[in-house]
Amino acid sequence: MTSLDQVRDRAEELLRLHLGGGSWSFGFDHAKTRAGQCDFAKRRITVSRHLAARFSDEDVEQVLLHEVAHALSGARAGHGPTWRRTARSIGYTGSRLHDGPIASELAPWVGTCPAGHEHYRYRTPTRPLACAKCSRRFDERHLITWARQQEREPTY
Ligand SMILES: [Zn+2]
Ligand SMILES: [Zn+2]
Repeated sequence: MTSLDQVRDRAEELLRLHLGGGSWSFGFDHAKTRAGQCDFAKRRITVSRHLAARFSDEDVEQVLLHEVAHALSGARAGHGPTWRRTARSIGYTGSRLHDGPIASELAPWVGTCPAGHEHYRYRTPTRPLACAKCSRRFDERHLITWARQQEREPTY
């Protein structure tokens, strides 16, 4: 788990290091289905506060590097060879949740409990899971229903 303050500190450090500081800014957004976003028009990189809170330090680092690589390679590069080369050169490893260009933006599984709490998984949930927010013990009344999110082309 990573605190949002840590994420912000690290993000600002990476912006200074790779984007020269000043011209790009960092913030959090409320996205639930993608980890990060690079807004070329506003010159702003944002990370989902919902997902950042669930990610490990290492995962957050990868999401930040993914977005910094977008900022460095420009909107037209998409997730093509230029972006990939840039991303690799700054330490993006493309591992685990960052396997493909789309996988990196999305948690493929989203689950909801009967009370409406949302849960995210990067792997197919294989056994019944109950909502930990509703009940600390496994309780069938708080069973999470999983749905695979539609994959969509990232727009950034
Ligand atoms: Zn991307
Ligand atoms: Zn719940």
